[in-house]
Order: sequence, then C-alpha cells, then structure tokens
Amino acid sequence: MNHHFFETKIEFLKGVGPKKASVLNKEAGIFTYGDLLQYFPFRHEDRSQFHKVRDINEQMPYIQLKGTFKSLQTYGDGHKKRLVGQFHDDSGSIEVVWFKGIKWISQKIAVGIPYTIFGKPNVYGSKINLSHPEVEEINPNASNQNSPALSPVYNTTERMKNAFLDSKAIGKLTEALLSIMDGSVEENLPEGLLQHFNLIERSVALKNMHHPSSINWLNAAKSRLKFEELFFIQLQILKLKLFKSTNYKGQSLPETHMLNDFYKNHLPFELTGAQKRVIREAYEDMKSNKQMNRLIQGDVGSGKTMVAFICMLIAASNKSQSCLMAPTEILAGQHYEGLKEFSKKLGLNIALLTGSTRKKERDQIHTALESGTLNILIGTHALLEDKVKFQNLGLAVIDEQHRFGVAQRAKLWSKNKDFYPHMLVMTATPIPRTLAMTMYGDLDVSIIDELPAGRKPILTQHMHDKHRLKINSFIKSEIKKGRQIYIVYPLIEENEKLGLKDLMDGYESASRAFPEHHLSIVHGKMKPDAKEFEMQRFLKGETQIMVATTVIEVGVNVPNASVMVIENSERFGLAQLHQLRGRVGRGAEQSYCILVSKEKLSKEGKIRMETMVRTNNGFEIADTDLKLRGPGDLSGTQQSGIMDLLVADIVEDSDILKAARKSAQHILTKDPELSSPQNSPIKKHIDRKTNNSVNWSRIS
Ligand code: ADP
Ligand code: MG
Repeated sequence: MNHHFFETKIEFLKGVGPKKASVLNKEAGIFTYGDLLQYFPFRHEDRSQFHKVRDINEQMPYIQLKGTFKSLQTYGDGHKKRLVGQFHDDSGSIEVVWFKGIKWISQKIAVGIPYTIFGKPNVYGSKINLSHPEVEEINPNASNQNSPALSPVYNTTERMKNAFLDSKAIGKLTEALLSIMDGSVEENLPEGLLQHFNLIERSVALKNMHHPSSINWLNAAKSRLKFEELFFIQLQILKLKLFKSTNYKGQSLPETHMLNDFYKNHLPFELTGAQKRVIREAYEDMKSNKQMNRLIQGDVGSGKTMVAFICMLIAASNKSQSCLMAPTEILAGQHYEGLKEFSKKLGLNIALLTGSTRKKERDQIHTALESGTLNILIGTHALLEDKVKFQNLGLAVIDEQHRFGVAQRAKLWSKNKDFYPHMLVMTATPIPRTLAMTMYGDLDVSIIDELPAGRKPILTQHMHDKHRLKINSFIKSEIKKGRQIYIVYPLIEENEKLGLKDLMDGYESASRAFPEHHLSIVHGKMKPDAKEFEMQRFLKGETQIMVATTVIEVGVNVPNASVMVIENSERFGLAQLHQLRGRVGRGAEQSYCILVSKEKLSKEGKIRMETMVRTNNGFEIADTDLKLRGPGDLSGTQQSGIMDLLVADIVEDSDILKAARKSAQHILTKDPELSSPQNSPIKKHIDRKTNNSVNWSRIS
C-alpha cells in the first residue's frame, strides 16, 4: 500500500499551501493527508430539499430556502448595528439578520436576485427569523446543478475562518483529497469479518464519512469505522492479556492454613456472598501457575479490604510476602491499623511504609523485607521505590486503582525476582461494563455487588444555603445521639487558595455554630503528621465534626460518622459525590448525606443532585456520570489515552463494542500470531500503526 499517502504533508494538497497548512496544523491538528481524512464532519446537512417560508417553525434544524431579498437595511450602530433583510419566496417572507461582517455581506448580496439561503430558524421576540445564514447566488446558467444530497459540516475556529478555511472550504479539501485517494487506502479487516457484520470497505467508508451519497451510506460508513476503531483497541488489549498469560508465570499458591485459622477463629463478621465469591475467584488464580491480574470492583463500603487481607493470608500460607498500596497516607495508615490486630493474632509481621516513615524504621523495614521476616507491607507509593525489595513477593494489592497509573502497576510487578507477583487491583469507582472492557480490558474482573447485611441505605437530601439553620439544628440533633459529622468542601484545583479559603471560612462558621462541640480540620496543605493527628482525634471520637477537603474522599472509615454534609456540592462530579457519601453509612445507624448548593444550578448540576437523591447504586450513578461527562473524565488521566475515540462512542456504541471484542477474541484464539493469510490485513495494519506511532503521537 502507498502508506506515504497518509503521511504526506498537508501543504502538498492542491489548494492548501504553506500558509493554510500552518493554520490547519495549529488550529485543527491536521498535519498530513491522513489527519485530514480523519477530520470527520460532526454532522451533515441535507441540501437537496427546499422549504417554503410559510412552513418554517423554530423546531426545525438547518433548512434551505429559495427566493429573493425584497429589502436590505442597516439599523443601529456600534455594538448594536445589524443588517436586516426581508427574504421572500412564493409562500411568504421571513426576516434575515446579520450582526457581524455587515459590510462584507451588504456588498455580496443584492435585492431582487435569486438566492438559496441556508440557516437555522430562531424565535426572536414573537417572530421567527434566520440569523447569519449561508447565502449563495443561484446560477441561472447551471440551474440543474447537481448539489450533493448531504454536505459535511466541519468544526472550524475563528482563525480558520479568517484564513478562508471555513467548513465549506474544508469540504472542498476533503473532496480533493478523496479524488486522489484511489488505491491508497488498504482494507484492514479480513473479508470474512466484513461479510459477517455486513461492513462496507474501508476506503468506501472514508469517502462516505465526508461526502456520503445518501443517509444510508453515511450510516454504513459510521458503523464500519466504529467497528474498526473498537476492534483494534480490543485486539490490542486482548493481545496484551494473552501475552501476559502465556509469558508471565505466576507462582502457584495453593496452601490456605492461615486463611482457615483466621476464618474459624478471628473473622469478626460473616462474609457476604459476594465477598466469598470474589475470594474464590482470586484463589483459583493464585493456586494456578498463571499470574493473577484481577480487578475487584466494589461499591464503597462493600468490604474490599477484608477480601484483600484474606488473599494476603493465602500468600502467607505459602510463605509468600504481600503488599498493599494505597493512594494516601491516611488511607494506608487506616489499612495498617485495621489489619495490625488480625496479623498479630495470626503471628504475622506487618509494617507501614509511607513518605513520612523515619529513616531508622525505614531501614529496618527494608532489611526485614529482604530477609523475608516481614510478611505484609502496607504503604503508599513509597512502596515503589527501588530500595524496597522483597524476598518473595507473592501478592501485590493496589487499592483505589484510579489514583494510580498503569506504569505504577507495572512497577510493582518488577518487585520479584523469579515470578511476577499476583496482582489484585481494587476500585470503588463503579465503571459501566463497556467502559471497564476498554479501560481494564487486560484484567479479569470480579464484582462485589452486595453490601454487608444490616446496612441502612443512606438518605440523601439536596438543600440550599438559605436552609443553613435547619441543617445546623439537624447536625446538633445527630451529635446529641452520639454521632459524628463530616463537612466537606471541594478542592478547587485551578484556584487552590480560593478552595482553602472556603474551607477556612466554613471551619470558622462551624466553630461559631457549634460552640459546644469539638472540631477537626484536615486539608491537603497540612503536614502529614498534623493530618494524621486530626484524623485520629476524629476516629477516636474526641472531635464530633470533621471539616475537610476531599482528602477524605478515598477509603477513610469512621463507622460512627452518620452525616456527610457536602458544601458547594454543585462543584463536584457525580463519581466524587458518590465516593464522599460512601464515607457514611458504615455503621448500623441511619446515615444521611446533605448536598448543599447555591439555588441556581446548571442543567447538569440539577441532574447530578437529582441522581444523588434518587439512588445509592454506584453503577447507576456511574452510568449517568458517563452520559453527562463522557468517558474522558471518568477514566482518569493515566488511562485516558485509550479513550480518545475518533468515531465510536463508548456509551452509544456498546453493542458494536461487544461485537468487536468478541470478534477480536475469536480471531486471537484461533490465530494468536495473526499469521494466517486471512488475518494479514489486520497484521499489516498493526505493524503500520506501530511504525507510525512516533508520527501520530506528535499531534497530542
Ligand atoms: P470498601 O470496599 O469501601 O473499601 P471497607 O473494606 O473499608 O470497604 O469496609 C467497610 C466496612 O465494612 C469496614 O468497617 C469493614 O470492617 C466492614 N465490613 C467488611 N465486610 C463486612 C461484612 N461481611 N460484614 C460486616 N461488616 C463488614
Ligand atoms: Mg477501601
């Protein structure tokens, strides 16, 4: 294939040249023919139909009219200056308005000459008008001009328009490019797959994405390219998974006597069915010779820590060490405190390693790890440091995966000499299945879909600032019952000072509102030991109210806390609100979440509040979140690369995704090396992409 075609610099395209090329580079990330080919229009307009003025209503999308201007007049001046035309056809007349570029337009159009105009009807006052429509003179000599049925509309910026690169001009460029493309685009899916899913050829699809011959062709083009996009992502993920499972041997850990001892003699509660199932799934992996790579998804409070600990006991039963990495010091400390007693009872050595561990203790930990006398290490990313070496690491657990990147996950792997440790990744961010397939497609997934018995669903209410007295008296009555309260402020990343000020103000007014109670305050700018001290005070019940930023979001466990007040709650995303709410409802008491916001909310803000009030179900919330925000935000920065989809939409195209994954799986099972002749289009495409990856990445 002529793979130079895709890599040809855009300035070589007829009608581009260096100046326009530079604008295309900077404004649209278009450097090459390939880039332009994949600069897909965001919609198409039907230019084959003409409407009558009489039939227009404001619900209509873009419409096309044929007629003449009866008058053209300028009104007002300065800012308010506008050009108003009366446009007539044989059914009536409509007002057409311009606020910008008036001089140019009044030179371009004239009264009495036939035009086609094209725009979106709006209501202005009580009348319908068209503002800033496209206007084109009807050429009498070419009256039967065959204008294509659907014309593409491309995203353009002001700078592009100023460089004569409006949507129409881009359309001309793609047309020119497509006309010289013949034979340069090679099919990258096997014939059998195309037939099975009724997909059109790649080159035909690319053409029809820009300049479709009909709606049906446009849809066929989209389906084809969506499938292709998702297929190659899934193939890549599954290949990685296959590679790992064939090449990375894990150590077999079949013994369970520690677990049995714990289960019989020390387990403080009955495990939920879901916890038992997930432990069984992990044990199946751990006793096999394959390296476990398992994601545990469980809503907040579902008891993931206990599952992790029991898996550590499996490792310990086999004389293997294990570690647990948490994203914050507070959380690591809490895991440590929680597991210390159990470990002691079982005769296991456990230690905590964080950034603030003293040098002396740190050295002791390093030695104990290497000699194998330390069984369990809990910590933060301090665990990743090169100095941390295990004698025999059997299991590495990562808590709250979304805070860590893939690279960090991989780093933990290298902590062992002969074998990769079994990996358990735990996340409380419920991810819709389709998204998980893409984000964590290389991991096996276990889901804890059951909360410990006796938990009462948290009651959530949305209130406004003006209800402050009511909120405060509710807080007082809960404290009287012996409960504790969280008051959380959003961390404003763009303006940390402002966020901190909100928090301090909040702390002050809470001090005034609750003079008879003790308050703790925790935020990210505090020294770790000060933070820890305040957390401990709250945990021990010495303080009744914890005023904090989102540092407490992840994992903190204070069963006696029954009220979560979230201030400025409109500034939080759904996932975060749900996480925060999960800090309460961990004891036997009825818990409450109060979302405080200003009164005027955006549409999305309202949906977020309503969703939180309506449901406690993390998966339902994740679905809504995905619909509101798109997948980019959800996936976290580290993984988001894989989510930059060009044509497919992870929410809408879940059926295509499933089909693509199944096909990829099927193909890899039969032909893992992709060496058969019918799979050669796939192989070639992957090789090409790998070769070009340097080139493609320069764009971002
Ligand atoms: P998360 O899944 O959010 O990390 P944790 O592991 O922190 O949840 O567990 C939340 C609380 O529930 C802890 O206090 C824990 O001891 C308790 N817990 C865990 N499993 C059970 C169970 N099966 N029955 C009762 N309480 C449990
Ligand atoms: Mg947890």
